[in-house]
Amino acid sequence: MAVQTLVNPMDDTMKSVYEDVMTRDPNQPEFHQAVEEVLDSLSPVIKEHPEYLPVVKAMVEAERIIQFRVPWYDDAGNLQVNRGFRIQMNSAIGPYKGGLRFHPSVNQSILKFLAFEQVFKNSLTGLPMGGGKGGSDFNPKGKTDAEVMRFCQSFMMELWRHIGHNLDVPAGDIGVGGREIGYMFGMYKKLANEFTGILTGKGPSYGGSLIRPEATGYGLVYFAKEMLATKDKSFEGTLCSISGSGNVAQFAAEKVLDLGGKVVTMSDSSGWIHDPSGIDREKLNWIMDLKNNRRGRISEYAEKFDGVVFTKSEPEPASNGIWGVDVDVALPCATQNEINGQEAEMLVSNNVIAVAEGANMPCTPEAVEVFHNNGILFGPGKASNAGGVATSGLEMSQNSLRLSWTREEVDERLHSIMVNIHQNAFETAAKYGMPGNYVAGANIAGFLKVAEAMTAQGLI
Ligand code: NDP
Repeated sequence: MAVQTLVNPMDDTMKSVYEDVMTRDPNQPEFHQAVEEVLDSLSPVIKEHPEYLPVVKAMVEAERIIQFRVPWYDDAGNLQVNRGFRIQMNSAIGPYKGGLRFHPSVNQSILKFLAFEQVFKNSLTGLPMGGGKGGSDFNPKGKTDAEVMRFCQSFMMELWRHIGHNLDVPAGDIGVGGREIGYMFGMYKKLANEFTGILTGKGPSYGGSLIRPEATGYGLVYFAKEMLATKDKSFEGTLCSISGSGNVAQFAAEKVLDLGGKVVTMSDSSGWIHDPSGIDREKLNWIMDLKNNRRGRISEYAEKFDGVVFTKSEPEPASNGIWGVDVDVALPCATQNEINGQEAEMLVSNNVIAVAEGANMPCTPEAVEVFHNNGILFGPGKASNAGGVATSGLEMSQNSLRLSWTREEVDERLHSIMVNIHQNAFETAAKYGMPGNYVAGANIAGFLKVAEAMTAQGLI
């Protein structure tokens, strides 16, 4: 059965907000895409609460955008210059919170889309966190540890004056894992001359939370499990395709295995592997070592294990063929716009039951429409991948309390946060006449809390 997508496909009021956004920043397609999706969902809310229209107009403008030069020396002694950013999008319900991305594609459009999504996502977690995002067009791939360290130190030499444990607490994202967080934390501590929980995703020896590395992937699978349960289904015996082989993908795969599913694909930016016999725990550990320690390519998996096919990617992340594999559940965990409408059709024709986004906005609007039109359970990233930032919030709480919770304690909290997010999105969608539409449910539920806070504080 098709899922009701829209009550009023972007009414005139929302259209005028959207047109203003496009006129103001015409060259930011990713940001437009993220805004359009939210505005599409909000028409019924604004009908009920016309007083929130000014809030919508304010929310599409960042509170502050910081852009800076990041000069650093490579191992050969040459000066390299990158560009650094921090988008402080919305602080109505708490300090800005959101990751740092180091990838050559990083620009203001991508970071604004991520920061905008982050506002709704953080609100959905129920924790007091505003939304932000940052990063650099620096490419850590192929760099030595010493080069990455010098870059991170230079990046923090500027960023440190714009963040603070009650102001803005960044975390990791693509290209920013434990190594980069460690180098940045060290530099912040030296510059500020204080030890505070200024970043999350820290190592456990210096204030990091247990389960933070696992949280986005585990949380994604907890969310997908709840979606499946609404159709009396579970992960037991399901075939799953996962894209990416980084932080989110690795721990999503681990949790799928814990719940009795079988993972048959993973990828990186060079291509994807199909292992019909399944990526079991031993093979997954091998991938973790490959990606986290040896920093190798996923193609090496096909050389190592029998019966595996490696397919090289086209230049675009979409259209690389991974979504043609016959599976029950698809978990895109690499990057934005990696499933287009055509690929969504391929998944549907293979009778996929559920698609949940581990990455941010990996499905294009056309793909989401295909899933909705075909009654596929679809979990949007701002709900389904919120486990990472939720656990970052738990790391902030532990840092403030100056204590550490056990693995079990953190995992239990993460699990209950994901169950609550699912329930909130599910019930909100039904309340606004779009049952089963998690996109609308997540956007509306996330919006309402922020809108109430912004209104109470005066629109400043
Ligand atoms: P990682 O850098 O650990 O892994 C990213 C993976 O995606 C790698 O396998 C990478 O390949 C692949 N990838 C990146 N860019 C592209 C591209 N343009 N085309 C094809 N493959 C690509 O990042 P994360 O796992 O942390 O993040 C993955 C996604 O999840 C992102 O969208 C991020 O915003 C989102 N996310 C992450 C959270 C977190 O806690 N880390 C929280 C919520 C969302 P390669 O190895 O070749 O670079």
